[in-house]
Amino acid sequence: MTVYDGHTVEYSGTSCNPGGINPFHGPAMPGIMEDFYLESYKEHLANSDEIQKISGLDFNLKVVDRLFLAFNDDDEQGLKRMQKPYRQAQSFDARWLTSSEVAQLESRISHNCVGGLFTTGNLSVNTQLYVAALKKSAQRLGAQFVDKNVREIHFAGEKATHVVVENNKIPISSVAVTSGVWTAEILKPIKPALKVRAVKGELLLVEINGPPLPLDITYGLTGLYQFKPGLYWAGGTQSGSLPEPGITAAGREEILANLRRILPGITKIACIEHDAGYRPMAEDSLPVVGKITPYENIFIGTGGGSKGVLLSSGIAKTLAGLINGDSDTGLEFLSPDRFSDE
Ligand SMILES: Cc1cc2nc3c(=O)[nH]c(=O)nc-3n(C[C@H](O)[C@H](O)[C@H](O)COP(=O)(O)OP(=O)(O)OC[C@H]3O[C@@H](n4cnc5c(N)ncnc54)[C@H](O)[C@@H]3O)c2cc1C
Repeated sequence: MTVYDGHTVEYSGTSCNPGGINPFHGPAMPGIMEDFYLESYKEHLANSDEIQKISGLDFNLKVVDRLFLAFNDDDEQGLKRMQKPYRQAQSFDARWLTSSEVAQLESRISHNCVGGLFTTGNLSVNTQLYVAALKKSAQRLGAQFVDKNVREIHFAGEKATHVVVENNKIPISSVAVTSGVWTAEILKPIKPALKVRAVKGELLLVEINGPPLPLDITYGLTGLYQFKPGLYWAGGTQSGSLPEPGITAAGREEILANLRRILPGITKIACIEHDAGYRPMAEDSLPVVGKITPYENIFIGTGGGSKGVLLSSGIAKTLAGLINGDSDTGLEFLSPDRFSDE
């Protein structure tokens, strides 16, 4: 197996996220995505020891406690609905905290909060180290990595025969296109109906004053996620990639202003780093995973959106199965064929 990626594009999703592996919220949850989210979570857990062992890299996979805050009745009802799957799943739990219990847990949270859902069981990783560990493990198991982009895919009838890398035509037995928001561009000649838009997210790496937070604290899109001792990821935003690609002063201010509202007791937030990344999002916000009809050997794995770290394991396992001839994925609803080229 050869992986081509020139790393020439800016703002890949994987370069900018706090590494949350959270199976109980996201598009179509509750709903058709429930099983795939949970399977993806289990896949991370099942393979992590082996990946650490083969790669020799510790990517800091840990269980995180997280407090989801509510500031009004609607927030409270929404969070209480989220409680059920946490309660039903092994190794997870969720319990409702009243506003005074929230204040007792962390006095720097706004007194306007009406309560919060305290959850345990979600995972997080240091994404950059996780990617490095996956790459090193794959190399040790025989995969090759080439720091170059694929320009085109060539066909004979309904079969992909070559990829073009620089000016070289390289023969292939099958190809999986997993290039985030850039996937649709490569596949445009054969799958014009596939659209993958970039939903830009900005993220800060911050230091805060006072004692360390004992858990992740979030409200809607805004949150502080524990990263390293004394350092937190602070996110996030959601916007298009245009007219301003990359980081913006407005994005930074939006995150800081929201944090000041939910955690007014934190009086100093020092910004160490400011990043932006593109979440690959299909038109229906669901992942796109499967074979492209009528081609025999072209597969696609993208559209992870805001859940791409969680889903990476499930998407990878599904693609490996499909390439090896296992067509019964149970994920036909995620097939690229749902976007009609007619
Ligand atoms: C602020 C923020 C917070 C997030 N938080 C979380 C979270 O906590 N949990 C979670 O599950 N998800 C989260 N996400 C979403 C997640 O980061 C993305 O869904 C995921 O990283 C997308 O991965 P990907 O591999 O599909 O795409 P990308 O990471 O964008 O990778 C695409 C790759 O394709 C390569 N490429 C492009 N063109 C070519 C070509 N022609 N040939 C070869 N290679 C090419 C690029 O160089 C790039 O490396 C977050 C995203 C953002 C922005």
